[in-house]
Amino acid sequence: MQFSMEQLIINAAITGMVPMPADNPSVPITVRQIIAEARRCAEAGASIVHVHARGEDGTPTWHREVYQEIIEGIRSHCPELIISGSTSGRLWSDFEKRSALLDCRPDLASLTPGSMNFPTNASVNPPQIVCQLATAMKQHGVMPELEFFEIGMIDYVRDYMIPRGFLAAPFYANLLLGSLGTLAASARNLVHMVDALPPRTVWAAAGIGRFQSQANNLAITMGGHVRVGLEDNLWMDTEKTDPATNARLIERVVRVAEAVGRPIASPASARKILGLNPDHLLHAKTSSSHPLRQNGDRASLSLDKAE
Ligand code: ZN
Repeated sequence: MQFSMEQLIINAAITGMVPMPADNPSVPITVRQIIAEARRCAEAGASIVHVHARGEDGTPTWHREVYQEIIEGIRSHCPELIISGSTSGRLWSDFEKRSALLDCRPDLASLTPGSMNFPTNASVNPPQIVCQLATAMKQHGVMPELEFFEIGMIDYVRDYMIPRGFLAAPFYANLLLGSLGTLAASARNLVHMVDALPPRTVWAAAGIGRFQSQANNLAITMGGHVRVGLEDNLWMDTEKTDPATNARLIERVVRVAEAVGRPIASPASARKILGLNPDHLLHAKTSSSHPLRQNGDRASLSLDKAE
């Protein structure tokens, strides 16, 4: 593991499943808000945007129609921005719901290769579902965004899923530290995880809550990349006096990267670093002809009226 001056990929996790506007007024909830937020994050320096869809009442939804609107809206404004959607099993467990967004052809989709606890509930990922999701991603040409909350999840991918052909290089992985119930946020834990990664893995570190900035900064120095945003952390400060915005969190990462001497990757550069199939961009450019597209006016949403 060497220090690196490689361009830094910033993955903006802008919404998540948990935060509501009552927790932080800047959490984007509606389709229009999420699209506008993705554009703001791209302008601030993000090359990946990790989205969760929300329903009319602001609670999470798996419905592909909502994901379709979000993905098409983002593509129409930021055609090269890398889009990741969530297949989380936190609120619903069946494969059909969890895999529904793959029809919308995001560039990436999250894949958590193991079960775990969050502070108040469990994320249940049985081996059959994990392997089914990986297979479906391969069939759809969607790159897994591996979410590692425990080092054993890395071992499972490296020693079981890859040899059995469920996953193939190149890989992209988020190493998530400091979520209550899983691996704590420490430099030793991060180094331990990075050492365990399979070859040809581009990795990013995320810290949950007050650990976000420190986990990001460690990764920047170590030659990794970062995941940042309101999904993981709602505050700029550890005293919780200054509510964060996605753009401000990204801008802080950009300042650290500049200080350390790492340039920020554009979405096009990030695609090359991740080894994303150029076909993905083709999907983006032709998404308007996708059979799921139901309303030709979606792409011309007026973002000025977004909020
Ligand atoms: Zn997520």
